[in-house]
Amino acid sequence: MKRYRSSKQRKRILALLRSTNTHPTASWIYDQLKGEFPALSLGTVYRNLRILQEQGEITHLDFGSTFDRFDGRIEPHYHFICERCGNVLDVMLPVLREIERSFSDQMGGKVLRHRLEFFGICQECLGQKG
Ligand SMILES: [Zn+2]
Ligand SMILES: [Zn+2]
Repeated sequence: MKRYRSSKQRKRILALLRSTNTHPTASWIYDQLKGEFPALSLGTVYRNLRILQEQGEITHLDFGSTFDRFDGRIEPHYHFICERCGNVLDVMLPVLREIERSFSDQMGGKVLRHRLEFFGICQECLGQKG
């Protein structure tokens, strides 16, 4: 693993990501921190996010959407994506290790991880009429 000198900006980005469960985009992070770090650019935010990802401090959510989203929670968990507002929520269900084992046995290889995503309409959107 490459080593990077620690940076104050990167520490703040990590703290920010860990303090929210909204799975923000890089530009949201940039908006939160630009007041605090006037020299910050969106490019710097992206670069720091990439480093944090390499270091295993955060995960990157790839839903094939236009915007990259980032997650400060690194332990395996599932996500729910609202098809109306685009919110990404953590799913509080246990990760299904048994299916990894079953399929490992079936194919004679080894499953290391799997992804499962739920799609639908979130509680907030469901409550809105019209
Ligand atoms: Zn929604
Ligand atoms: Zn998450």
